[in-house]
Amino acid sequence: LKRAKTLGQIQIYEPGQARAARHRFSIETELRHAIERGELSLAYQPLIELSTGAVSGFEALARWEHKERGSIQPTEFIPVAEESGLIVELGRWALDSAVRTIRDWDEEIGSKLPISMSVNLSAIQIARDDVAAVVTETLRANAVTGERLTLELTESAIIQDPYRAGRVLEELKGLNARVAMDDFGTGYTSLAYLQRLPIDILKIDRSFVTAMHDDRDSIAIIRAVLSLADALGMETTAEGIDSAELARTLSYLGCTHGQGFYFAPPLNAVEALDYWRVRSA
Ligand code: C2E
Ligand code: MG
Ligand code: MG
Ligand code: MG
Repeated sequence: LKRAKTLGQIQIYEPGQARAARHRFSIETELRHAIERGELSLAYQPLIELSTGAVSGFEALARWEHKERGSIQPTEFIPVAEESGLIVELGRWALDSAVRTIRDWDEEIGSKLPISMSVNLSAIQIARDDVAAVVTETLRANAVTGERLTLELTESAIIQDPYRAGRVLEELKGLNARVAMDDFGTGYTSLAYLQRLPIDILKIDRSFVTAMHDDRDSIAIIRAVLSLADALGMETTAEGIDSAELARTLSYLGCTHGQGFYFAPPLNAVEALDYWRVRSA
């Protein structure tokens, strides 16, 4: 009987699934090596204050240029990193690289660059790592102060363990770092958490912003999110602004900040500092 059952399982195991599992496993192995060998890099996408057009910060985004496969997107390798636990190491690496870039830029311009660097935190990091201790140590090691840093976390990071997430956020606030809720509107955050947790910025998910092009309902959603953020004293960043018209409309609606290909794509560290120089001249 047992044997028959096993055979039954083998029958429903399709070749396509096996291939997908193998592909995932090889990405996982290669990602582990890429982290160890320092083959990942960060790209920096400008964050713009919509009312003035000034650069208020940059979001650090992980990049993986694979020797044979070419560039692998974060949407492909971050989930693998999360499932394998590698995200803890990757996240520490991203934080350290981003903070080092702040220090490098300061040295380059000979004063404190007046921007905030945003770094993404995965829910798995919140759950498994001592994020506040890691941030503290990274800042100390690079002689950078906490108010230069914004940590972006998604709704899932809060829902999994609101008590733990709350504690981490309080500790980050204690370092004077800022906290942004990423991809807002795609998860299931209770509005009570928004009120209770020390969140400084709501990032409105790109899907709502993109939909504004041809869908009046999404403007209503954006209006509601903006007024909610305003009532709670939070700044707002619209993701995925890809046209002048969207930038204008969002600014008119009261959105404070924006990010998107209309302003700039993610840039390497040299291009990003140049972008800041040109914009602030
Ligand atoms: P995210 O944090 O929401 O980052 C914004 C994503 O939107 C970036 O994709 C950026 O390139 C893209 N984007 C910005 N403006 C536009 C636009 O106008 N049009 C379009 N179509 N896309 C735009 P990217 O770099 O592929 O990253 C995807 C996601 O991967 C990020 O979404 C974030 O969730 C995750 N990620 C990237 N780097 C890290 C990291 O170091 N740690 C963690 N935990 N997650 C990361
Ligand atoms: Mg983000
Ligand atoms: Mg986002
Ligand atoms: Mg997003």
